[in-house]
Amino acid sequence: MNKTNDKKHKHDSKDNHPYVKVGGSGIHRHGVFARADIPKGTRIMEYVGIKVDKEAGDMILGHTFEKHTNDPENHAGTYIFEIDDTWDLDGDVPDNDGKYINHSCDPNCEVDIIDGRVWIDTIKEIKKGEEITYNYGFELNEKDIYDFKKHPCRCGSEKCVGYILDEDEWPRMKELLAKEQSSNKA
Ligand SMILES: [Zn+2]
Repeated sequence: MNKTNDKKHKHDSKDNHPYVKVGGSGIHRHGVFARADIPKGTRIMEYVGIKVDKEAGDMILGHTFEKHTNDPENHAGTYIFEIDDTWDLDGDVPDNDGKYINHSCDPNCEVDIIDGRVWIDTIKEIKKGEEITYNYGFELNEKDIYDFKKHPCRCGSEKCVGYILDEDEWPRMKELLAKEQSSNKA
């Protein structure tokens, strides 16, 4: 019955993607890996889920972050995607192998949202066996500006900034961290 605990140990992959497969990851438990060399600009899979309105989306997100705060190892459910101003996509469904893709500060894929559907496209040439990643695009939480520290990044890339955040937020994040450090010294 406890789906959340279950997820820690196994995945329910459909394993029906020509370009990629789900497997164990050095970044975080499961990951998605290239079955073969994949050219740049290839649409590799759809991130599927249930369309929910913003209110439901925010509620699910709230629960998820609460769970994560209580148990930092529990990332189950950070699968809400913002489609537009009205709709979110809840990717926490069995058919969605896209939920196993890890975040990276130096990703090889990006997300393309077209008419409410979420696609994963390669932005680099990917070699067979390489892990598929994209930037989760998390934004700073204006109500709790240091909230990003609850989501450390372990992508291991040379460009890693230490936290899961959209690249547009990096300059501000670095300012915040510098400010915090100088006030700690004082
Ligand atoms: Zn990183």
